[in-house]
Amino acid sequence: MLYYMPTKLYYGKDIIFQHKEEMIIGEKAIIVTGRNSAKITGALEDVISVLNEFHIPYVHYNEIGENPTYEMVLKGKEIAIENECDFVIAIGGGSPMDAGKSIAVLASNPDLSPDDLFDMKNYDVALPIVAIPTTSGTGSEVTPFAVLTKPNGRKSGFKSELIFPDVSYLDPKYMVKMSKSLTMTTAVDALSHSIEGILSKKATVLSDMLAKESISLIYNYLPKVLNDLENIEYREKLAIASSLAGMVIAQTGTILPHSLGYRITIHKGLRHGQATAIFLPFVAQEVKKTAPKKTKILEEIFGSLDGLYEFLKSVDVYKYDIDFTEEELDMFSKEVMNSSHVKNTPGNFDLEKIKGMYKKILKI
Ligand code: ZN
Repeated sequence: MLYYMPTKLYYGKDIIFQHKEEMIIGEKAIIVTGRNSAKITGALEDVISVLNEFHIPYVHYNEIGENPTYEMVLKGKEIAIENECDFVIAIGGGSPMDAGKSIAVLASNPDLSPDDLFDMKNYDVALPIVAIPTTSGTGSEVTPFAVLTKPNGRKSGFKSELIFPDVSYLDPKYMVKMSKSLTMTTAVDALSHSIEGILSKKATVLSDMLAKESISLIYNYLPKVLNDLENIEYREKLAIASSLAGMVIAQTGTILPHSLGYRITIHKGLRHGQATAIFLPFVAQEVKKTAPKKTKILEEIFGSLDGLYEFLKSVDVYKYDIDFTEEELDMFSKEVMNSSHVKNTPGNFDLEKIKGMYKKILKI
């Protein structure tokens, strides 16, 4: 068993100011954000005030949208190289953090294209990274992963120890402005990370411990947060749950629900967390048939796998309006079958079983 998580993770309210000197891991920063969220949450202002205090120059690249593309990271690469930035500060949800990680590699390796990121043999340096999450779901602040959308529309992740952030600041005060729907979809993304970690063939004693705590926190606090969005104490619990879930997938990776969900997000527009979580009970039921021990922790927390379904239903995960044709069903299922997620999912999933998963979520 190996446990490796080299990120220095600071956690708490106003934590940036208590450990501000540790944010200065270079001489010029590129701050990578989406268009609005870093501003609205106050995180950008806090970061800039620390940089100013230490007289660290920076450029701000704020054009990362949801599901970052090659174009977005290539533009960031150019800006970082042109301005001779030597560290990345990524602020936001998963998209700006994953884009920031991609830019960190590309800016250190000027000859590389985004396609080259997917084979880690292509590079052995990256700019150091500071990550500041403003949602609680992705866990990207503690993982060696980044997910990009390729020009053909497919979402694909890459993994490299070089993109574990050097320092991450987890401050629940940046999360209180999240809308109800964003809170739900990001929280069930974290829940998917922990549940997939438990079901994964790569699960370890330690990843199971982290996952169990994370699932319990989401089970107990997500319904509370949804009724009281600005409650900082509840937000703290979800923030911790999300980072714990990130530590889980840093060890185990994600499995089938993520692969099934990517197609729904790209082709049907359902957000990543929700598009993934809708499959959890059905994949878990299938896993139980061949590996009943794998679902024990879930049955303890939710009472049963039906209890997991009922929980997801209670937080509106099954409120969606999507449909697809037979051709789409074929295409999605074949893509999933070819993804690396299948081999780490117990349950002997073949093409027919994968099609069955898609059919189940259409019937709801
Ligand atoms: Zn995810």
